[in-house]
Amino acid sequence: MVKSSEDFLHINQWDVALKIHEFNEIGSQEFKSAQYLANILRARGFQVKDGYAGIPTAFRAEKIIGKGGPVIAFLAEYDALPGIGHACGHNLIAASALFSAIRATEKLRNGKIVVIGTPDEEGSGEFSGSKILMANKGYLDDIDLVLGSHPGDSWDVGRQSLAVQDFEITFSGIASHEAADPDSGRSALDAAILTYTGVNMMRQHVRRDLNVVIHGIVKEGGTASNVTPEKAVLVYGIRSSSVKYHGELVKRFKKIVEGCANATETTYKIKEIGPLFATTKINPTLSNFIRDRLLDKGVQCPALEETFSKQPGGSTDFANVSQVKPALEVDFQIADEGTPWHSHVSLEAAISSRAKKILDIVIEVLSDTAYKFSEDVGFRERIKIDFLSP
Ligand SMILES: [Zn+2]
Repeated sequence: MVKSSEDFLHINQWDVALKIHEFNEIGSQEFKSAQYLANILRARGFQVKDGYAGIPTAFRAEKIIGKGGPVIAFLAEYDALPGIGHACGHNLIAASALFSAIRATEKLRNGKIVVIGTPDEEGSGEFSGSKILMANKGYLDDIDLVLGSHPGDSWDVGRQSLAVQDFEITFSGIASHEAADPDSGRSALDAAILTYTGVNMMRQHVRRDLNVVIHGIVKEGGTASNVTPEKAVLVYGIRSSSVKYHGELVKRFKKIVEGCANATETTYKIKEIGPLFATTKINPTLSNFIRDRLLDKGVQCPALEETFSKQPGGSTDFANVSQVKPALEVDFQIADEGTPWHSHVSLEAAISSRAKKILDIVIEVLSDTAYKFSEDVGFRERIKIDFLSP
């Protein structure tokens, strides 16, 4: 049965967290989730555009309060992980974005509150890293401040992230009978194995301070042991905490591929998979304000310096947003430190009573931040200066 707008009006943040968890839709396929979230916002008087930025499961909702004032956007995610479900807790991100925005419309006197539904953070489908597309193609141009949140095993307000680009390398050789005609064959698998070895050797000669991570697999390596493999496919991810250094690594990586193809008399094609995920630009003014608000609420959130001392492990498309607009994604703790993420434990944590309590705090703090930004011109200026500084 189709729910009336009246029904949607009575849905609260925890209903959203549970419902999105239950929908369990993977990236680029979040049709039910996107529609459900958009309907809640419609019921609350937001103007909603479905399929924002040409992405079927994206949306943009906005509501004007008073006259003039800044434009503040909250980013929602609602994609699950293939196989396991909402083990990254994006159901909570959806709930937090929606209800931070709704709370903000109650607190603000002047401004425009926007919710953008940003699909496929996990990179499962066609619109992998949708925030990157939005950031690069001007879909965030009119926004003055972007706020987001992400659950995890610790609190942080300004965690660094790694730049990452994935590649698929396809080698082509010549098939032949491995016993009768081996001299006619050229093995694509040899090229792949040689590349794998070459990349392992490169790892020893990279900057240690820039958090280089290179991970690869052999996706295809032949079909029968008596046929020279004419096709072999490698998939690699290359990461670093410096975009510039990342570019140098990619050049070196490509040289290895070329050299190994030459050595084995095979040919190759390199394809980029998905967009380049940038590093996160930290905004100390914003981080410190949010941390102070969290401390007020009794949350032991570490200072920015302490967060910086942690080794960045992951990558996120929110990073690309932080490169084009003042932005902050708050990491909020819903499980004990050291809890493995993308696991069955985090799947349960995403609908736990602990998460329920924390979600309310995140919503209050993010909506307070929006209020502060709309009221305090000096605060806005300092955030802008932080953003423009290199
Ligand atoms: Zn996530």
